Amino acid sequence: MDAEIIRAAQGLKDKTVARRRDFHKYAETAWTEFRTASIVAATLADLGYQVLAGDEVVEAASMMGVPSSAELDRQFQRALEQGAHAVWAEKMRGGKTGVVGVMRFGKPGPTVALRVDMDANDLVEATGEKHRPSREGFASVNQGAMHACGHDGHTATGLGVAEVLAGLRDRLAGTVKLIFQPAEEGVRGAKAMVARGVVDDVKYIVGAHLGIGLKTTGQVACRTEGFLATTKLDAVFAGKPAHAGGAPEQGRNAILAAATATLNLHAISRHSRGVSRINVGVIQGGTGRNVIPAQALIKVETRGATTAINDYVYGEAVRIIEASAAMHGCTVAMQLMGGAAGCENDAALVARIEQVAKRQHLFTEILPAGNIGGSEDCTYFMERVQQKGGQAAFVMIGTELAAGHHDGFFDIDEEALVPGIALLAGVAVELLTKG
Ligand SMILES: [Zn+2]
Repeated sequence: MDAEIIRAAQGLKDKTVARRRDFHKYAETAWTEFRTASIVAATLADLGYQVLAGDEVVEAASMMGVPSSAELDRQFQRALEQGAHAVWAEKMRGGKTGVVGVMRFGKPGPTVALRVDMDANDLVEATGEKHRPSREGFASVNQGAMHACGHDGHTATGLGVAEVLAGLRDRLAGTVKLIFQPAEEGVRGAKAMVARGVVDDVKYIVGAHLGIGLKTTGQVACRTEGFLATTKLDAVFAGKPAHAGGAPEQGRNAILAAATATLNLHAISRHSRGVSRINVGVIQGGTGRNVIPAQALIKVETRGATTAINDYVYGEAVRIIEASAAMHGCTVAMQLMGGAAGCENDAALVARIEQVAKRQHLFTEILPAGNIGGSEDCTYFMERVQQKGGQAAFVMIGTELAAGHHDGFFDIDEEALVPGIALLAGVAVELLTKG
């Protein structure tokens, strides 16, 4: 079926570029992808997929870093004005913007999942002739939201794969699940979909990303390394205000608690089994020069080479934050704002993906591995599948980049989209038909 898959993917080129540009123009940030996700849902339904969305695929209690309900309502209205499918968007109220397309084929076989992400960055897009999206009229019309990580390309790719597989449905076996995840930026979305059980029955899962370390179109890496497990945490310290000159002893200084925590968080011991990271990136507090500060906030992130190492750093961080509050007679409230697991790709699955890439001849260079250079919450899906005995891999698809990820001048090479569709569809067919 290789030739057919390639032909089908190539036939989708114009449609895929148009979709990518449409998603780019109407960029939506984490948990507000109402327009994007509703278009995904409607397209999958048209192709004959069973479409699960909203509560069916997102567990509200596990959503992290969700915007305020006023903000969600505002973006929901904006999405409707910009052409969202109202019936689908309605299912996603409250930011539950995840979508899963399921297709069960006639013959028995494994459940294969592909995962892409849909959200944009909190970023103002560059303007001017130098920036192609601006020059060609598809720059973001949503102020402060920009696809500067290629997730617009991922979403369009996912829909392309959906169409290729639907066209082959009579000859496939098993079940395919196409996962369209919200809120990857800030690693906030995957956990809520995993908690809902979206991949509990999955034998193989493949994720993908454009660019990152692969900056030449035609390159591909079927294995990704360097995933750091991470936890994002806000801590709000509450003390007691007092006159700094007249009665300082009656106050409880929340800034001192936050400062004590900050210094000691950075003193958490290294771990003998792998790298770790800790950062206090934001510290805010106080109300006036002559007031003992009654409130302070720190924004913290921990990372580790494995989930276990990150859990260690995170556990120490919580202990230190609580102890720092106690030392200064303050209380503290902590809130999880994001997280991702550590992950190793399964060599057996990587080898099969490489075989498909070699057979298809759409890539000029197959690299042994790509490096994610940070955290990606696809790892939550991958970890769950592996815990249940399945296999996981994360593919990196090379593309020339106009600027680095999360830069206002970021842009992908759209020539990278068709090879990505062909590879992911080819991998799905390989796994569905051969088990
Ligand atoms: Zn990304």
